[in-house]
This record gives sequence, C-alpha cells and structure tokens, in this order.
Amino acid sequence: MRGVDVGVAAMPVLSVQDLKMYYLVERRGWVRAVDGVSFDLEKGEALGLVGESGCGKSSLGITILRILPFNAKIFGGKVVLEGKDILQMPEDKFRKEIRWKKISMVFQGAMNALNPVMRVGDQIAEAILLHEDVGRQEALERARNLLKLVGIDPSRANSYPHEFSGGMRQRAMIAMALACNPSVMIADEPTTALDVIVQAQILKLIKDIQRRLGISTILVTHDLSIVADLCDKVAVMYAGKIVELGPAEKIYYRPLHPYTAKLLGAVPSVKGKRRRLEFIPGAPPDLLYPPPGCRFHPRCPYAEEICKKEEPPMKEVNGVKVACHRVEELWNL
Ligand code: ATP
Ligand code: SF4
Repeated sequence: MRGVDVGVAAMPVLSVQDLKMYYLVERRGWVRAVDGVSFDLEKGEALGLVGESGCGKSSLGITILRILPFNAKIFGGKVVLEGKDILQMPEDKFRKEIRWKKISMVFQGAMNALNPVMRVGDQIAEAILLHEDVGRQEALERARNLLKLVGIDPSRANSYPHEFSGGMRQRAMIAMALACNPSVMIADEPTTALDVIVQAQILKLIKDIQRRLGISTILVTHDLSIVADLCDKVAVMYAGKIVELGPAEKIYYRPLHPYTAKLLGAVPSVKGKRRRLEFIPGAPPDLLYPPPGCRFHPRCPYAEEICKKEEPPMKEVNGVKVACHRVEELWNL
C-alpha cells in the first residue's frame, strides 16, 4: 500500500499534524507524551525544538521515525513527508523507503552506539548497503566522502571507534545519519556528554551541513540560546504540547508565551519591560495526569480561572503562534 497522497504545490517537506503518542504504564494509565503536536518544516529549514526535560521532545522524534518502545501507541494525527502521510505506511515499506533514507536521527549520546569491533568506514558503508542497491566499493567511497564532509580525514575510515575522540565519534554518527541523503535529519541533543568546545564544533558542523546540503533539520535541545544561533524556527514544547512556534529571532528576542518568557529569563511586567528570572518555580506536570485547561497554569503567575478550565487554542500573534489565553493582555498587544 502506498502512503495517502495529500500533496499540494509548495508544500513543506514535513508536516506534522495533531500528532498524539502516549505510553502505557501498567496499572496507572497513559503518559500523554506527544499530545496534539502540529508544525511544518520547509526545505532546508532548521527547526529548534526546546523545552524542559520530560516535555516530550525525544518522544516526538521517535514518533516521527516510528521507532517506538513496545508500550507506546500512536493515537492519531498525520506525519506528511513530501505530500504523503507516512504514518499510514506499512512498516516494511516505511523501513525500506523512509527510516534513515528520508528521515534520519542522531541520538543523545549516539557516539557510544558505534560497533566497537568494526572499522568506522565499514559501519557507514553498511548503512548505505542496507538501504541502497550499490556495490561495496561505491559504499566505501561514499563513506570516505561522508567522513570528509563531517570534518574527518577520509583515511580514518580504517580506524576503529576507540581510536576516535568523543567529538569524532559524534561526527561519524552524523555522517551515518547523512549516509542515504535524507530530506530530514532529527538531531536529539547531539552534543550531550561532549565538552563545551567540542559541543560548539558539532553544532557548527550541523549548521554547515544543513546549509550546504539543504537538509531540513529538527534540532532538539534544552537550550534556547543554541536554537537562536542555529535555527530558523523554534517550537517550544511544554507537557506534551507545542505552546509557541515561530521565527527563531522573534521568539528569542520577544517571547510571548509565559513559559517561553520564563525559559529565557524574561517575564512580562506591567510596562512591558523585561527583567531576569533565575528559575521556573515548580516542576513540569506528571503526564499521566496532566492539569486541565492550560497545562502550564499551576506554574504560571498570570493564571486566571479560564486557564484552569479551558485549553488555550493556538492563535497567531505578531507572526508567532502562541497557546495562551492572556497573551495580548500580558504584553499590551
Ligand atoms: P529529555 O530532554 O530529558 O530527553 P524529553 O523532553 O525528550 O526529555 P521524553 O523523553 O520524550 O521527554 O519524555 C516525555 C514523557 O514520556 C516523560 O514524562 C517520560 O517520563 C515519559 N516516557 C518516556 N519514555 C517512556 C516509556 N517508555 N514509558 C513510559 N513513559 C515514558
Ligand atoms: Fe498562563 Fe493562562 Fe497563558 Fe496558560 S493560558 S500561559 S496559565 S496566562
């Protein structure tokens, strides 16, 4: 069966629409990790996905790539890649045509996932051979070129992972993710566990690759300042939902959702000025029992009755999508 054709002119490369994925926890119920998430990713665009730990960022990535643990279930929505809803594709077709070939992922701590007893070049070539009908020599040549692309001398294709530094291993994993020329690359906290200087180098590499190859990228991170530097667009996630979505510059310099404002250390004040905050009081909610209404209301200093009862719809304000009942009032818009 082919994916359902929903193509139109000038469509985004990837369109995620009202996606829902929950985890079943025995005797307790469903953890609503991805709960009605929608966003578009254009060709060559970099989207930064930010939010505190546990808000569902990684869950969104593995739902798009359909690499879910046994207790996860997709409850609805669409993932439209180049006009086709790939959520409806049978698994064998998805494995052959989409996973790693069209959408690839670099995981948190991925550098430790390299096979220790196999040469790095062979591992990258293996990824190509698994998905493409090419000969071994061609796959090895492409592996060497990919290593060059990620800043590693192609002669190092013959090295084993233990002969690489942490940064080099993460570069090799990025090369692996690029092996089949994907349209979309999801990088989930790709610099965790690396030292600060190497982190900056890897982020620069991702930016270069995204620009040079025109790959649409989703960069998952805790850090809004990283996305301001690297991304065109930002999606701020809170408790399984996107609460603010828009151009990176706008969100970074003028966050509208109280949660984003707090993440950035800026809060709305009566005169519309900003001041610094050191932390967000309270903790994100348990997604087994998310609060009714706006999920941020137990931590939001601006919460009113309506916030406790009604879920705020996503609305467009100054070119940014925001899910907050009081946004205009708070910022005098
Ligand atoms: P981090 O930044 O720490 O990686 P995250 O934003 O990526 O966090 P997720 O890892 O997607 O968040 O987790 C979202 C929610 O789903 C959390 O409440 C988490 O505890 C829960 N969760 C994740 N995996 C499972 C699982 N296999 N079974 C049950 N709950 C899970
Ligand atoms: Fe705060 Fe209400 Fe806006 Fe939610 S809807 S962020 S609780 S003001």
